[in-house]
Amino acid sequence: MEVQLSAPNGIKWTQPLGLFINNEFVESSNGQKLTTINPTTAEDICSVYSATTSDVDKAVAAARAAFRHTSWKRLSGTERGRLLSSLADLVEAHAETLATIETLDNGKPLSLSRSWDVPEFVGVLRYYAGWADKIHGQTIPVGPDKLAYTVRVPRGVCAQIIPWNYPLAMAAWKLGPALAAGNTVVLKPAEQTPLSALYVARLIADAGFPAGVVNILNGRGLEAGAALAAHPDVDKLAFTGSTATGRDVMRLAAGTLKDVTLETGGKSPLLVFDDADLDQAARWAHEGIMANQGQVCTATSRLLVHASVHDALVARFRDLVRHVSVVGDPFDRDTYQGPQITRAQLDRILSYVDSAREEGAVVAMGGGPATPSPPPSSSASASASASRGYFVQPTVLTGVRPHMRVFREEIFGPCVAVTPFEDEDEAVRLANDSVYGLAAAVFTRDMARAHRVAAELDAGMVWVNSSNDSDYRVPFGGVKQSGVGRELGEAGLEAYTSVKAVHVNLTSN
Ligand code: ADP
Repeated sequence: MEVQLSAPNGIKWTQPLGLFINNEFVESSNGQKLTTINPTTAEDICSVYSATTSDVDKAVAAARAAFRHTSWKRLSGTERGRLLSSLADLVEAHAETLATIETLDNGKPLSLSRSWDVPEFVGVLRYYAGWADKIHGQTIPVGPDKLAYTVRVPRGVCAQIIPWNYPLAMAAWKLGPALAAGNTVVLKPAEQTPLSALYVARLIADAGFPAGVVNILNGRGLEAGAALAAHPDVDKLAFTGSTATGRDVMRLAAGTLKDVTLETGGKSPLLVFDDADLDQAARWAHEGIMANQGQVCTATSRLLVHASVHDALVARFRDLVRHVSVVGDPFDRDTYQGPQITRAQLDRILSYVDSAREEGAVVAMGGGPATPSPPPSSSASASASASRGYFVQPTVLTGVRPHMRVFREEIFGPCVAVTPFEDEDEAVRLANDSVYGLAAAVFTRDMARAHRVAAELDAGMVWVNSSNDSDYRVPFGGVKQSGVGRELGEAGLEAYTSVKAVHVNLTSN
């Protein structure tokens, strides 16, 4: 049920492989597994047990029993907060191993796993640990004969389906508020990145969570994911992933009218006005689309630039790609961009570049598969195996018009589409010309314009003179086809409670 693994940075660990149900690792009911691949080398890492629908039934039953059991139900908010803090401490103590697992399984640079993914997990858990004893209702004056008050109660059993781009952070965004509010959970990681959540599972048991409060099932989307979304004994469904799958899970959840929170795709615009600080705009524009291999739902993938500064901005952007976007082995210290997650994602990006060419855009930079630069210290065989991975060149497409697929569809890679505009009205019109509405960024030195444009943009989040800020204290989510509901902040906690109203008759009538 476990295997010894090691990574190029010398870290070794015992990797659990089972389904985590009732604080124990177990095999899937028919023994089926799924294999996770190292995107840097295209080689198998290991196989983990993959849940069947009957395993989903088992995990949901465990979560239901735990929800009813006094060992969880009677725990005070302060005690739930203490458990979350203990888990955060354990994750922090295992930070280097978890960062290593994330980089091996996902391909993101180790520097990023260390500086963002693991600290984000710890920060989110501590943030929601602080909320756990601050969840309360209101008393509502309704006259002298009645007392009316509300309490915020946990929803019950929550199914949580997460994607592969930030496996640890997405687990934290889901687990933190759900557990703070007193729910129980069945979490399904993505089949491409099953490892870090299983490592955390062991820490969950060590932290002292009662059996069944958190269950973690790896499994295929169409099998385990669909079974969770449709399950009659699941009270709430939280999903992060593509808009197409979001639509499917919402349909499945509709069978029992589950509460849903969906965080789906985006095609977020970054607007650069003629009075912007162009160096600053270029830096954020680069980071906004190139970080994490462009595999970010809020990536600012459309660069809308005032015609008078278009060439100057594109020149700066290209310079940054040349000097900052070092494509290489994610365990190499100098690497900015690791491999894409799968061969399918790599091919998808390349086919979007083809479509852009066919529709008349200009491939100003990149556009093909990349050969990773070997780390100076690596052996010939190490760099040869890295070259089999799913690397793509950072890509800049110019002359992109609104009818083109690369303007309208989410690519989910390090590929930016640049479109010029003439004035503020046109900029806002282009920005809002999308089925998505996750995020948007505005670059201008004119603060009146910044606020005016922020108000006009169809987006759940707007950044002024920056891009891709996210902070667990601030609500995160989209409008239009980018999602339903909010995660993080107080709003993220409310999504895991429902309001119960109590009316008390104070008279003898
Ligand atoms: P991507 O297309 O980027 O791989 P998806 O949105 O398909 O992302 O996947 C996000 C998560 O949703 C993963 O955990 C995946 O297993 C799960 N999933 C995929 N298809 C379904 C489905 N039909 N029902 C429930 N979950 C699904």
